[in-house]
Amino acid sequence: MGFDTYQIDPNKCTECVGFYDHSTCQRVCPIDNAIIIDPEHIETKEELIAKFEQLKNS
Ligand code: SF4
Repeated sequence: MGFDTYQIDPNKCTECVGFYDHSTCQRVCPIDNAIIIDPEHIETKEELIAKFEQLKNS
């Protein structure tokens, strides 16, 4: 939880790679375009899979 909004920790977000085929938060959020890709944290699918594996094993 941020100051007045929820914030996504880029170190823990895998864009749902490893769990789902789409970003679950974007699917369930009732506000269009409220959750967008952070241009400062663009990751390849391989990087996201590696993060998923690291988080799963930590
Ligand atoms: S639901 Fe998926 S895309 Fe959204 S913050 Fe969590 S891991 Fe990232």
